[in-house]
Amino acid sequence: MKKDADYIYEQVEKHHEWFKKSLPMIASENIISPMARELLISDFHDRYAEGPPGGRYYQGNTFVDKVEIKAQELAKDLFDVEYADVRPISGTNANQAVLMGLGGPGKTITSVDVSDGAHISSAKFGSVGFRGMEPKTYPFNVDEMNIDVEGTKKLLKKEQPDIALFGRSVYLFPPPLKELKETLEDVGCYVWYDAAHVLGLIAGGEFQDPFREGVEVMTGSTHKTLPGPQRGILLSNPRDEEMKQKLFYGVFPGVLSNHHLHTMAALAVSLAEHQEFGKEYAKQIIKNAQALGQALYERDMDVMCEHKGFTRSHTLAVDVQEEGGGETLVEAMEEANMIANKNLMPWDDVNSAQEPSGIRLGTQELTRLGMKETHMEEVAEFIKRIVKDREDPKKVKEDVTEFRNDFQEIHYCYKEGLPAHDRFSFLDKYD
Ligand SMILES: *Cc1c(COP(=O)(O)O)cnc(C)c1O
Repeated sequence: MKKDADYIYEQVEKHHEWFKKSLPMIASENIISPMARELLISDFHDRYAEGPPGGRYYQGNTFVDKVEIKAQELAKDLFDVEYADVRPISGTNANQAVLMGLGGPGKTITSVDVSDGAHISSAKFGSVGFRGMEPKTYPFNVDEMNIDVEGTKKLLKKEQPDIALFGRSVYLFPPPLKELKETLEDVGCYVWYDAAHVLGLIAGGEFQDPFREGVEVMTGSTHKTLPGPQRGILLSNPRDEEMKQKLFYGVFPGVLSNHHLHTMAALAVSLAEHQEFGKEYAKQIIKNAQALGQALYERDMDVMCEHKGFTRSHTLAVDVQEEGGGETLVEAMEEANMIANKNLMPWDDVNSAQEPSGIRLGTQELTRLGMKETHMEEVAEFIKRIVKDREDPKKVKEDVTEFRNDFQEIHYCYKEGLPAHDRFSFLDKYD
């Protein structure tokens, strides 16, 4: 009924109003650019395209094909790889495509443990399990917040996996690919890097260069540090034609039918923008994360890895067990218009995912809104007022709102400077 439809509009409007006044710090989110956003309401949304450009199963794809080919070219150029598939509709979907192509019952896979920061799609109770596999997990060095090199070498030699997967959702530091390269080559397994979180940093040349460090296939989400649409990507330097075919058919018909053409067009634009602004953006994200880490640390918060400069990515992990635990604190932060998430720490039991001892903070979206290192001091102070001082969130919220007032525009994109949250304004012309 119409009143229900109106109700939905009202909720979305309220959401926009709220986010205009908030500090978004979820490490897996970002704001899409104005040019990319407009494509989300294009007619591409209403169409189907199955199979590759030029070999579609339906008519009507003349211009869709051109966009998809351009998106592939941009991706290949940005990551300096031979093969790019821009069809996966999410990071998990791209992971499933790799598992469909290269994995399966009876195959062995090694991966990071979920409590050490891996994503659920690489777990037995996620996509890996869906392919009938159970990952053998790498030993983890909590002090370094990274997998343990010697232990991992041993594990790889012992298990002789078909696939070695490297990927995390709490990616403070690059995994030691160079150190493991020789062992991985000896084992001969497929080397797979899940870059979901750090895709934009890699594309900006600011994290590590997985393909030059022995990786053969890389998947990622295109809406985290790469500030594009909600979507995924599959990139590869395939070792042979067989591997390429497995990846190709893993996507379609493996795990996809239509591949959401409107977000594909938005991805193409986002990739073009990242070519131009990505390096500068990635640099600032990391500078901001390190500055936020330092500022929180100076305010007596238990930020992980002080001895390593806190982070080499957009992410910080903070242990808040003493202050009441992740769950309680992210709820109080939300009341003060600071949006973050609770997170498992390496010493937490996976079964305590509802009440973990940490919080995870990301600086990619604050950076996109134009914030620099000095602003991280102020953000740290707001967080401290909630976490340490237990101030009334309502009071903090007023100050957060006022602070955020100066950061309403989107940066590092074409049409830079347009408002980040007046998202319905372009619909006026259709009223
Ligand atoms: C976010 C994430 C994914 C996939 O996320 P989607 O929401 O499906 O795009 C996969 N792997 C890792 C490591 C992630 O952090």
